[in-house]
Amino acid sequence: METHRAHCLILPYPVQGHINPMLQFAKRLQHEGVKVTFATTKFLFETVGEVSASISVETISDGYDEGANGIAMEIYFPRFQKVGSETLTELVLKLQDSGRPVDCIIYDAFLPWCLDVAKDLGVRAGVFFTQSCAVNNIYNHVHKGLLKLPLEESGVDIPGLPPLLASDLPSFVSNPGLYPASTQMFVHDQIENFEEADWIFFNTFYGLEEEVIHWMAKILPVKTIGPTIPSMYLEKRLEDDKQYGLNLFKPMTNACMSWLNERSINSVVYVSFGSLAKLEVKQMEELAWGLRASSYHFLWVVRESESKKLPKDFVKETFGKGLIISWGPQLDVLAHKSIGCFITHCGWNSTLEALSLGVPMIAMPQWTDQSTNAKFVNDIWKMGIKAQPDENGIVRRDVIGQCISIVMEGEIGQEIRKNAKKWKDLARQALEEGGSSDENTKDFVSKLIQS
Ligand code: UDP
Repeated sequence: METHRAHCLILPYPVQGHINPMLQFAKRLQHEGVKVTFATTKFLFETVGEVSASISVETISDGYDEGANGIAMEIYFPRFQKVGSETLTELVLKLQDSGRPVDCIIYDAFLPWCLDVAKDLGVRAGVFFTQSCAVNNIYNHVHKGLLKLPLEESGVDIPGLPPLLASDLPSFVSNPGLYPASTQMFVHDQIENFEEADWIFFNTFYGLEEEVIHWMAKILPVKTIGPTIPSMYLEKRLEDDKQYGLNLFKPMTNACMSWLNERSINSVVYVSFGSLAKLEVKQMEELAWGLRASSYHFLWVVRESESKKLPKDFVKETFGKGLIISWGPQLDVLAHKSIGCFITHCGWNSTLEALSLGVPMIAMPQWTDQSTNAKFVNDIWKMGIKAQPDENGIVRRDVIGQCISIVMEGEIGQEIRKNAKKWKDLARQALEEGGSSDENTKDFVSKLIQS
């Protein structure tokens, strides 16, 4: 007979950057003796085929069981809400009927309707934010009308945050007209009801965003539980937890790792823009020539859908100096001794991974929360620098070259590496026995059992 202390159903938004952190939190809860059911959409489950983690997986439907490629967000979100609400309800009832009643639904903040499903079913609910506390504090201020859009000033002062320029704000705030459906979703819908959830989880840790967490936690049941990096890269308490376990892209692990093994310490620039960003052709070109001109090797993740933007013959011309892969084992790459720095779009997971593995960053934010993360990397955590774009928003090849030299060499580079080491230690400590994120996870579990 199963002897679990409680049962949590965990539902991420079905993209890589949301699945990874929520799956890791699922593993942590399971480690604390909680039974976990991880729910994905039918399409996603059928596409990936397997989840390599010993977590029980069930499916719901987003209304697009054949895939939602090319469907506009303003159509996808309402359909997901309708069909998702129905199928999530069915799943919870099915688990109840089979003797595994759900005690708490932990849902992605991008799926705010899950709170209504939980309330209707009389189940408690925890909302999980996969982006930083700072970014969500900005959205919260906009949603409540405390920060008016379009911005009237060139900078803003928000409680708990350093002074921010418009260019440091998430793109949905600095340029709301450009992405109306996303602005509605990120800035309003996900903030609308989050304060009614029983728990509010953030994939961050106390020391990283101390002021803003302190400010938010005064008024809300906030729990920081990150960084949600597989345990074996950090405090090593979850045996065999070496990878996230669900890949939407096929990693070229062998080619990538054997190439890195041939390189010397701190000699490689790693470049990746995550799973969603689409670079302008001009930007790809500038980056390509910047990498070719630098005196370091490079490992560049160019997703298949982006590869046609590479300059003609670039792969051939840079053979030996650089390796281009369509997807890689990012954590193993960042942990490899040959990696000297990471040119990153500053997606929140990539930022936390670089920080947790002590890899200096060159920030090239593209959209959504990435500019705010870049601001923190450059000015607050001081473990990287932001590559400044020109008046057309393109980071030129010479700027890329200069950034690589600054981070890899000289006094500023040394200072950045020292800070990177400090953040790596603090990230590990947050998850160690008695660390802030460990305590918060345990406190959640004990409250869940008691009530
Ligand atoms: N990632 C990976 N292999 C790659 C590139 C990225 O496994 O070649 C992972 C990375 O480790 C991170 C996630 O994909 O966990 C990307 O999430 P992030 O928040 O950084 O960016 P997004 O894809 O959401 O823009």
